[in-house]
Amino acid sequence: MLTAVTGINWGDEGKGRVIDLLAENADVVVRYQGGNNAGHTVVAKQQKFVLNLLPSGILHENVICILGDGMVVDLEHLTNEIAQIREKGVVVTPNNLKLSKRATISMPWHKIQDELEETRLAKTGAAFGSTKRGIAYAYSDKYRKKTLRLGDLLHLKEESVQNRLKMMLEAKNLELAGCYYQEPMSYPALLSWCEAQAAELWPYIVDTGAYLEEALKEGKRVVLEAQLGAMRDIDYGIFPYTSSSSTISAYGPIGAGIPGKQLDHAVGVLKAYSTCVGAGPFTAEKAMPESWMELLRKFGGEYGAATGRPRRVGPFDAVASRYGLKCQNADKIALTKLDVLSMMKEIPVIVGYKKGNQEVTDFDPIEDLEEYVPIVRMLPGWQTDISGCVTYDELPDAAKAYVETLEDLLQHEIQFISVGAERSQYLTKGEWL
Ligand code: GDP
Ligand code: MG
Repeated sequence: MLTAVTGINWGDEGKGRVIDLLAENADVVVRYQGGNNAGHTVVAKQQKFVLNLLPSGILHENVICILGDGMVVDLEHLTNEIAQIREKGVVVTPNNLKLSKRATISMPWHKIQDELEETRLAKTGAAFGSTKRGIAYAYSDKYRKKTLRLGDLLHLKEESVQNRLKMMLEAKNLELAGCYYQEPMSYPALLSWCEAQAAELWPYIVDTGAYLEEALKEGKRVVLEAQLGAMRDIDYGIFPYTSSSSTISAYGPIGAGIPGKQLDHAVGVLKAYSTCVGAGPFTAEKAMPESWMELLRKFGGEYGAATGRPRRVGPFDAVASRYGLKCQNADKIALTKLDVLSMMKEIPVIVGYKKGNQEVTDFDPIEDLEEYVPIVRMLPGWQTDISGCVTYDELPDAAKAYVETLEDLLQHEIQFISVGAERSQYLTKGEWL
C-alpha cells in the first residue's frame, strides 16, 4: 500500500505529526523531495523532535526510513542530525535508515553560493528570503548535470567520477571567482571532502528504489513524505516564491524512486488557518487586523523554529486551499491545529477574492495575486478547550459547524482532525486510513 502525505497550503501544516502517526502502522517512510530546508516537528515521548532531513517515521524503531531519489542532501547536516537524534535516544543504523544512491548531493559550494547571492540581492532590498541552505543551487546543478549523486561516493576511486569532479570544480570556481570574487577551491580539498563524507555514510547508501519495489511486492505499507505545501511547488506554486522541487503527490513515486507505482491514497494536510513563511503574495494576511494575528501567532506558536521570527498568519483561505487540494489530488484530508482557534469569539474564513468589483473563486498563481482582496465570512467560535476531544461527537457544535463549513467550501470531506501537538490528540471522522 502506497500513501503520500502532502501539504495543501504554504507548508508547516503539520505533515510531520500526521506521518509520525501513520508510521505506527507503516513499514517504510520515504522523503521524496526537498532538502534540509524542511522543518517537520513531531512531539512524542514528552520530547519535541524537529526533523530537517530524516523522515518523520524515524521515531518508530521498526520503520525503515528512506531519503529518496528526489532529495538534495547536505551530508554534513545529515551526519549532525543523526548524531543529535541519537543523543535523544533514537536508534539510527543502516538497518532503519537508507539513502538513495540516486539522491543529489548538496556540494560544499551550494550553501556558499546561496549565501553570496542573497547578500548581493539584499544590497538592493531584493533578497528572496532563502533559507541559505543551498537547496536551489543544488537542484539547479542537478539539472545542469554538474553535481554528484550519493552513489558516486561509493566510486570515488574511479577515473570517470574523478573526471566529473574536476570538470564541475573548474566550472564552479570560474562562477564563484567571476561573480563573487571568491578564492578557488582546490581539487585535493574537494576530493578529501568527498572521501570524508563517504567514510561516514557509505553503509547507508543503497538502491532504495529496488528496495521499495520489493517491499511493495511483499505487501508492505509505504508512506511518502512531502516537504512544504502545494503553494511552494516549483511548477504549480506561487513561482518564484516557491521551493525548487515538486511538492505534489503525483511526484511522490518518482521522487521515491518507484516511478512505475501508483498511489493508493494521497493525504492532504490542511491547517485550520493560514500561515506563510518568507516572501511572496499571501492574500490571507489582508483579512484581519494585526491584533488578531498576534493572538493566533501566540496560541499557534507561529514563530520560526530557528529564528524566532513571527510567521505571517491569516484565516483559512478557501480559494487557495481548493487549488492546493486539486494539486495534491488528495482523497483524504487531515485538518490540523483546530484547537488553536478555540480562544476566538468569532472566526473569519476567506470564501472568495475580489479584484476591483470582480469576484474571483479560482486561484491562479500566474495572476498578480497582490491585487486580490479577500472576501471574509465570520463564523461563531466555540471558546471551549477541545484539546481533550477524542471523537467527533465530543466537539462543540460550533467547532463541528466550522469543520463542515470548510468541507462545503472545499467540496470534500475531512477525515482526520488534530486538536493538539501530542500523538494522541486527534480524532477521526468518516473513513480515515
Ligand atoms: P510540517 O512542516 O508540515 O511537518 O509542520 P511543522 O512541524 O513545521 O509545523 C506544525 C507545528 O504545529 C508543529 O510545531 C507541531 O508540533 C504543531 N502541531 C501539529 N498539529 C497540531 C495541533 O493539532 N495542534 C497544535 N496546537 N499544534 C499542532
Ligand atoms: Mg515545517
